[in-house]
Parts: sequence; structure tokens; C-alpha cells
Amino acid sequence: MDFELTESQLLIQSTARDFAQRRIAPQAAEIDRDERFPTELLKGLAELGLMGVNVPESLGGAEAGTVAYALAMTEVARACASTAVAMGVTNMVGEAITRFGTEEQKQKYVPKLTSGEYVTGAFALSEPGAGSDPGGMRTTARREGNEWVIDGAKQWITSGSYAGVFVVWARTGPIEAGTRGISAFLVEGGTPGLKVGKPEDKMGLRGSNTVPLTFENCRIPESNLLGELNQGFKIAMMALDGGRIGISAQAIGIATAALEEAAAYAKERRQFGKPISDFQAIQWMLADSQTELDAARLLCLRAAWLKENKQPFSKEASMSKVFSTEAAWRICDRALQIHGGYGYTREYNVERHLRDVRVTRIYEGTSEIQRIVIARNVLAG
Ligand SMILES: Cc1cc2nc3c(=O)[nH]c(=O)nc-3n(C[C@H](O)[C@H](O)[C@H](O)COP(=O)(O)OP(=O)(O)OC[C@H]3O[C@@H](n4cnc5c(N)ncnc54)[C@H](O)[C@@H]3O)c2cc1C
Repeated sequence: MDFELTESQLLIQSTARDFAQRRIAPQAAEIDRDERFPTELLKGLAELGLMGVNVPESLGGAEAGTVAYALAMTEVARACASTAVAMGVTNMVGEAITRFGTEEQKQKYVPKLTSGEYVTGAFALSEPGAGSDPGGMRTTARREGNEWVIDGAKQWITSGSYAGVFVVWARTGPIEAGTRGISAFLVEGGTPGLKVGKPEDKMGLRGSNTVPLTFENCRIPESNLLGELNQGFKIAMMALDGGRIGISAQAIGIATAALEEAAAYAKERRQFGKPISDFQAIQWMLADSQTELDAARLLCLRAAWLKENKQPFSKEASMSKVFSTEAAWRICDRALQIHGGYGYTREYNVERHLRDVRVTRIYEGTSEIQRIVIARNVLAG
């Protein structure tokens, strides 16, 4: 058993921390307030190899593994959760194409994602009527000559207005085939027939771009099928297993910032003639937050280590996501409480952290869905 990070993991962590604290953190409040998509920061992350942390160097990635990815994600989210989610989805798309793509697809798309030539990638699975149950999707793809023709609607697509390439899931078999009649496709941003809708007006992650998509007679080359025909659902589930480690790390990053800010404020703020950090009620909140944060980190790094070492990790990724995101919510809430009335204003970052962290319990599978995955594994023995 070894709790030490390797040299290359420490290097990725310190590279991400340095860029995040120096370049991202000073802009985070403004990105949130002005709902500004952080294009230039994402390009900066690409220059550091952080848009393909677990992607081979031959495709422009850092080839540093999943643990390093989780560490980098934590550092970026600690500075700005909106920037982190765009980074997370791009890493997920790059990994999916690397794993399931043909040589031609890999060479064509992955270097553009890792280098920043594409500002981001996007992952288009959810639909207006199919969220927790993506197997109920209605978007279709039919073959016409040497093309696929996609029709339908997607919902909640992160970075959809900026993505150079989308992984899009569509039904290629009859509805009765269920999840065995779904395929994945690579659709380039700007393809005729792909319409990007108005960005959602969200509670948090206001610098992240979340849009509906419509596909109307959207034609892509036959060669843009990702993986095998009718096997796309498995690609989505595998990508989401890995993505959940990223969301867990994102929640940990947001909670880390909230806890640091709460501890600093508690030492500064005086009431009843002393710093509020002298009160046991405040100390206990800090103690509970630190303990939960460490437990979340350990669950997250274990899931990342299992994935990196090619062992089963689906249950562990779900355990990591449900625990980290729910603990992070409590940690951000306590941090706001420690700030008193000031915490409820834009003057301090904690209100942003609380708004930003909330969605981590919803996307890439809600807490309820994670518990279903975990229970299924427990019951299977
Ligand atoms: C900001 C944001 C960004 C997102 N980005 C993306 C993206 O890039 N790509 C993408 O494809 N999707 C994305 N999503 C979609 C996200 O993954 C879905 O919102 C999520 O999967 C939940 O689906 P839903 O919103 O339709 O809720 P529903 O599935 O309608 O769920 C509603 C409630 O019912 C519960 N529920 C549902 N089924 C069960 C069950 N069997 N047992 C118990 N409870 C259940 C849920 O847990 C939830 O509490 C994003 C969402 C948000 C908010």
C-alpha cells in the first residue's frame, strides 16, 4: 500500500495548481458574473497538456494517467468550476475517441482536442425526455448511401456552442432493441443540420455553456460511426464511469476552495471579542469538512487508480461520485455558514462555490443513479 504520488503525478498536480491559481482563480468571479466562456484559459490548459491528461503523447496528450487527471481536475475546479467542467468533458471525449475510434478518427480529432485547436469537445447523450434513462433516447441515425443522417434533439450539452467535435448518440436499431440499438457518432461543430440552441440560464457554473441541440437532416460521413454499430450505449456507459471520477474530482476541488476560505475567514472574523475560530461550533464544522474532504479524496484516487491499472472500477467511481459530491455540498454549505451574512453576498466566493457544486450531484448520473449502480454491484455479490 502506497499513498505517495509519483513524480509525474506531482508534476501534473503542481503544473495545474500553478496555472489555476495564477491565471484562472483571479478571473473566476468575473467569469461567473459575466457568464463568460473561458476560451483563452482552456487554450492555456491545452498548452500544458491538460486537455488530454490520460491521452497518449502520440496524440498530443500528457499520457499521465487517471490519477494525474483527477489531481489536475481538482486543482482547476478549486480555482473555477466552470473552466473545470469544459476541461473534463474535453478529456472525456478525447479518451473515448482514443479508446473506441479508428486510427483515422484518432489522428483526425484527438490532436485537435489536446492542442486547443478545438476549444472543447462535447458529449451529446441526454435528451429532453431521456436523462437518467438515456436508453429512452429518440434521436435517430439512418444510413443513406455513404452517409449517416441524424435527426432529433439533445439537451444540456456542455460547451455545445464551442465544441469542435461532438460525440452524439442516436438510435440505429428499432425501439424494441433498447440500449442494443444505439450507436455513437462523431459530428463536427458547424455541420449543416446541427443547430445549437440558446444557452441555459443556470443557478451555477455560469461560465460554462450548456445548450440544447437539434439535428435536422444532419449528414455525416459513414466513417464517422464511433465504435461498432448498435454498440454505442456501452461506449457511453464506459465513458461515464471515467467521467464520474472527473466530476468527483471537480466537487473535491470546489470543496477544497470553500474549506480554505472558511478557515481563513474564521481566523479573521471577530465576534464576542475573539476570532470566531475560537468557538467550538466553528471548529467542529471545519473538522467535519476536512474529514469528509479527505474521505472523498481517498475514494476518488482509489477509483482513479483502479481505472489506471485496468481493474474494474465502475462501482468505485459511483461511490466516489456520490460521496464526494454530497460531501462537497455539505462542505460548501458549512463554509457559507461560517461566513455568516457576508457569505450570502457576492463579496465572497463561497456563494459561488455553493451554486457551482450543486450540479455535481446531478450531471453524469444523479446521486440516485449512482446508488443504483452501487446497489446493483452489492447485490450481485
Ligand atoms: C449543467 C448541466 C450540464 C450537463 N452536461 C451534459 C452534457 O454535456 N452531456 C449530456 O449528455 N448531458 C449533460 N447533462 C445532463 C445530465 O446528465 C442530466 O441532467 C442527468 O443525467 C439527469 O437527467 P434529467 O435532468 O433528465 O433528470 P431525470 O432523469 O428526469 O431525473 C429527475 C429525478 O428523478 C430521479 N430518478 C430518475 N430515475 C430514477 C430511478 N430509476 N430511481 C430513483 N430516482 C430516479 C433522478 O435522480 C432525479 O432526482 C448536463 C446537465 C446539467 C444540469
